[in-house]
Amino acid sequence: MSYVDEVFDLVVEKNPAQPEFHQAVKEVLESLRVVIEANEEAYRRDALLERLVTPERQLLFRVPWVDDQGQVQVNNAFRVQFNSAIGPYKGGLRLHPSVNLGIIKFLGFEQIFKNSLTGLPIGGGKGGSDFDPKGKSDREVMAFCQSFMTELSKYIGADTDVPAGDIGTGAREIGYMYGQYKRIKGVYEGVLTGKGLSYGGSLARTEATGYGLLYLTAEMLKCNGHDISGKTVVISGSGNVAIYACQKAQQLGAKVVTVSDSTGWVYDPEGIDVALLKEVKEVKRARLTEYAAARSSAEYHEGRGVWGIKCDVALPCATQNELLIEDAKALVANGCLAVAEGANMPTTMEATEYLQANGVLFAPGKAANAGGVATSALEMSQNSERLSWTFEEVDSKLQNIMVNIFHNLDNAAKKYGMEGNYVAGANIAGFLKVAEAMTAQGIV
Ligand code: NDP
Repeated sequence: MSYVDEVFDLVVEKNPAQPEFHQAVKEVLESLRVVIEANEEAYRRDALLERLVTPERQLLFRVPWVDDQGQVQVNNAFRVQFNSAIGPYKGGLRLHPSVNLGIIKFLGFEQIFKNSLTGLPIGGGKGGSDFDPKGKSDREVMAFCQSFMTELSKYIGADTDVPAGDIGTGAREIGYMYGQYKRIKGVYEGVLTGKGLSYGGSLARTEATGYGLLYLTAEMLKCNGHDISGKTVVISGSGNVAIYACQKAQQLGAKVVTVSDSTGWVYDPEGIDVALLKEVKEVKRARLTEYAAARSSAEYHEGRGVWGIKCDVALPCATQNELLIEDAKALVANGCLAVAEGANMPTTMEATEYLQANGVLFAPGKAANAGGVATSALEMSQNSERLSWTFEEVDSKLQNIMVNIFHNLDNAAKKYGMEGNYVAGANIAGFLKVAEAMTAQGIV
């Protein structure tokens, strides 16, 4: 049996009931096969793949907090410090009822390669809890965040592990967590990113993932003879990534006609009104029905459906495994040119393979949504320097990083004989740097 297959079997055996983690490992190892086989003896001797798929440290803890009725609630929480070969662990904190250890491990594993692709010195980690901030009062969210950070603060630090936001963890949650860290540790340091501008946050961090997604998508289209301007775009999600993807797509001259949330979706053939979307989602924290009620050109539909709308470019920006094989078939049938993942692993492997086999340009999340973590690393630099850069400075660095990422993965795919396969290119380019650092640092 080949080394890649052996290690994959080992992952399934040693990590039962973690299907998302298996899926992420399989996708990465499959596309690394040619690179691993070229250096199999040394990698086997050093157990490089076994070390790569096993987190350096996994923290599991309980988070007790008191709700507004005086009832004590208990949530499960996780921080997986996956790989620190090229820098301190870096990756977000997800707060969503679906969170479990397998989800956090899939996200942490992906984060290793994503962070490597940015070209910045950051290792891979991820964390979160099955706490649901939706429907909770501000006081309840604060009680949870303070209790969560009371435990997490023992294991993180500006030079060791620097968490950030993710689904359910926005500016409000980061603020409460940062306050508690500072209170416990008595130091004012850049231990979290995604902070508010008044206490060490970076301009353009809020916009970074969505903007970065569009910078990379525009470059991918350009290098394949297309222009983003004038294109029709469908987007899923209506959170941080989706909102700023929508805004940048429109600034680049494209028309975005859909957004969605966990209960339904909106089709707005006139183009999504970003100011209204922000009001509904960022200010009122309301459902998309409110968007449709306030805009006569918009139709609201229950359930899922954005991938059935005719488009040139599709940007899944909600959550994992939201673009399925039947969706991929609908996109191809409707003449879609490109899919770029704003979310982490939103496209199933089967759907990804179908899109690629049918000539759709496909940019995987670990490259396409790396603008968020790249700008987080820029926030860390500014905190270390005790300086704040302007919006334009950060945005222009972000743009350069995203264009470089695209060319890195394009070149890696070409070098290994898989031209146009950006999934393989991203995994290979991300892996080679980490593997070299791990090898240089010996058996640790
Ligand atoms: P938000 O919480 O701001 O928004 C998430 C959006 O996705 C919401 O519209 C939400 O709907 C929808 N959604 C969440 N879970 C589900 C589900 N199970 N089914 C259907 N819809 C769902 O998160 P972000 O925008 O920050 O993150 C979106 C994705 O992007 C995630 O995969 C995240 O890991 C990834 N990402 C985020 C980065 C960032 O900087 N924020 C960086 C890199 C990747 P509802 O409001 O109804 O829950």
